[in-house]
Amino acid sequence: MRQAIAALAAILCAGALQAEDARGTQQAVPDDVWSAMQGTSWHTDMPCPARDDLRLLTIPYVDFYADRRDGRMIVSAEVADDLLSIFADILSAGYPIQSMRLVQEFGGDDGLSMAANNTSAFNCRLVAGTNRLSQHALGKALDINPVQNPYVTRSGVSPAAGVDFDEPHERKADVPGVITAEHPVVRAFKARGWGWGGDWSASKDYQHFSESGK
Ligand SMILES: [Zn+2]
Repeated sequence: MRQAIAALAAILCAGALQAEDARGTQQAVPDDVWSAMQGTSWHTDMPCPARDDLRLLTIPYVDFYADRRDGRMIVSAEVADDLLSIFADILSAGYPIQSMRLVQEFGGDDGLSMAANNTSAFNCRLVAGTNRLSQHALGKALDINPVQNPYVTRSGVSPAAGVDFDEPHERKADVPGVITAEHPVVRAFKARGWGWGGDWSASKDYQHFSESGK
């Protein structure tokens, strides 16, 4: 009996370690990261969030070769816990992510980040073609695998390489990286009350998830 309990304890412990390992971590924005954000993803002439209101997440994920990697993402402190839980679910589901680098590594240029199929969150910028602040500017929205999940409007597809994944018949659950309505990625976000741009009617932003649903 004692042996059985010890064996059970060992199994439970291994499970706990695995779960711990699958969850990323959060920290205050370090000095080097903050200084690289200046003039790229954070601007003095825009109403960007204060440094203290942002967190740097380190997130374990699997890439398209099934290799385990650690990515980095900046988000609002208010949603940091939710996002760590969501990405733990995404990792458990085995969903592949190509790249998870801070948008400042692309000079704050959303177009370059999307073209590189980069998954990212915070970027203090306006909604393309408007003078409204994007939900990304609040650190409460993120874009996942933009190539497999493009932003589709009447005027085009963004990024351009997303043209292979913009038609309904190209958006099947068995295509790696493609996010569909009943997909584990969508379920992970919706379980925490987040909205998906694939549910929008006028345009489709398949890569986009936000706390507000906007
Ligand atoms: Zn977005």
